[in-house]
Amino acid sequence: MKTMDLIKQASERLRPYTDTRDRLHGDVASAVISKSGQVYYGVCVDTSGWGLCAERSALAAMVTDGFYEIDTVVAVWRDDKTGKLHVLPPCGICRNFMRELDENNLEADVILGKENVKKLKDLIPYHEWPEPLEEKKF
Ligand SMILES: [Zn+2]
Repeated sequence: MKTMDLIKQASERLRPYTDTRDRLHGDVASAVISKSGQVYYGVCVDTSGWGLCAERSALAAMVTDGFYEIDTVVAVWRDDKTGKLHVLPPCGICRNFMRELDENNLEADVILGKENVKKLKDLIPYHEWPEPLEEKKF
């Protein structure tokens, strides 16, 4: 699936909704292609006690189907003042969440724009396990 197709599919899931407590949900949407080729969608959910990013929402749907490896991920947000669509980079929690789902996800493609796709590993600096500082002591 091409980058713009996935961006479009994610944007079709945008459903901003402000609840009675003035919390905004669904104003960020994500689409994830699993290694198995299925596409999963999610939106952000923001409550007073906890928030869930759109990416982790889509990834939870993927895991619900029994898949853990990601091929491609994107998240989008539309500015309601300008009407313009933006691709959002995943936050640090989502980056680490993707990594911890499966170490192979470091090779997943993260869409950052129309012509800007990076590997997850490039968005997580110093992700390698560190070398020991000294030789074994015992
Ligand atoms: Zn996030």
